[in-house]
Amino acid sequence: LANAYALHFGLQYLTKRFMHRSEDDMQEIEALAAGMKAYATWNTRDTLQECREACGGKGYLSENRIGNLKADTEIYTTFEGDNTVLMQLTAKNRLGEFRKQFGEMNVSTIFNYVLGQAKTAISEKNPFATRNTDESHLKDAQFHLDAFTYREKEITASAARRFKKLVDDGLDTFDAANVMHPHMLQIADAYLDRVFLEQFSAAISETDDEALKEVLTKLYNLFALNKIEEHKGWYLEQGYMEGVKTKAVRKLVSQLCWEIRQDAVPLVDAFKIPESCLAPIITTKSAEA
Ligand SMILES: Cc1cc2nc3c(=O)[nH]c(=O)nc-3n(C[C@H](O)[C@H](O)[C@H](O)COP(=O)(O)OP(=O)(O)OC[C@H]3O[C@@H](n4cnc5c(N)ncnc54)[C@H](O)[C@@H]3O)c2cc1C
Repeated sequence: LANAYALHFGLQYLTKRFMHRSEDDMQEIEALAAGMKAYATWNTRDTLQECREACGGKGYLSENRIGNLKADTEIYTTFEGDNTVLMQLTAKNRLGEFRKQFGEMNVSTIFNYVLGQAKTAISEKNPFATRNTDESHLKDAQFHLDAFTYREKEITASAARRFKKLVDDGLDTFDAANVMHPHMLQIADAYLDRVFLEQFSAAISETDDEALKEVLTKLYNLFALNKIEEHKGWYLEQGYMEGVKTKAVRKLVSQLCWEIRQDAVPLVDAFKIPESCLAPIITTKSAEA
């Protein structure tokens, strides 16, 4: 559910970017659309599998339609552009942007870059921050944004260094990109996670209804912390978090799932899925709720 809302706000952002595009924006919009298509269709595939299993054997009954939905949507991971290939396109755009940024660097921008790295080391990688398990800190939007941005920047910068070394060692750019294939997918994934996070946060800021804001904030926290938990191995390797903190994140993810359960039905109803599209298993459950 948290992913569905993140995707909804992210896709609205993409539509707005496209509607108000300039010639200079087009490459980034194309990379964003390619990555979001892959992200969204993988999410659909995984969600339907989760739903099928959550409904047990009933999820397999044709009258409950999950099988049909799986058959209809699973192929979206391949047609209209294979997801893996689209993620490569997104990653190439990010690497290109990174190179442009460095290509245009002068003494002052290099100084600011080094200063930024030093600031991150002091403010985010100090022992207090890496072991901070306070709930208020773990639910702080700035902590989420810092963690997502750190992952994106580190993965992109290390990929750029690796790419340059492969090319310096004699590989052509095509072969170098192929050798680095898993690394490329990580660049795209980290970039998309950060965009979805920012757009979720922006949508909450634009909401005036306080009660809605409260529920969306819970969902936003779940999206952010679930992603951090998903990548906790990477954060531990980087020394960005210690075990006590990743354990606290895991605990909070479970707690948030429990809390959001109370609002799950209205959050799903908000998508206004027509009754005619629903199957017995869903209509019975919502009537009971
Ligand atoms: C139901 C359906 C409808 C379609 N409709 C249309 C249509 O209307 N018009 C149209 O033009 N096309 C259509 N297609 C074709 C569709 O666009 C292609 O199937 C899709 O682009 C994937 O290409 P492919 O099947 O050759 O798979 P491949 O590209 O061969 O992919 C096979 C595997 O190789 C991997 N792979 C491929 N390239 C790389 C790479 N560079 N690096 C790493 N891994 C890679 C992929 O990730 C995938 O896992 C349709 C396909 C289907 C299934």
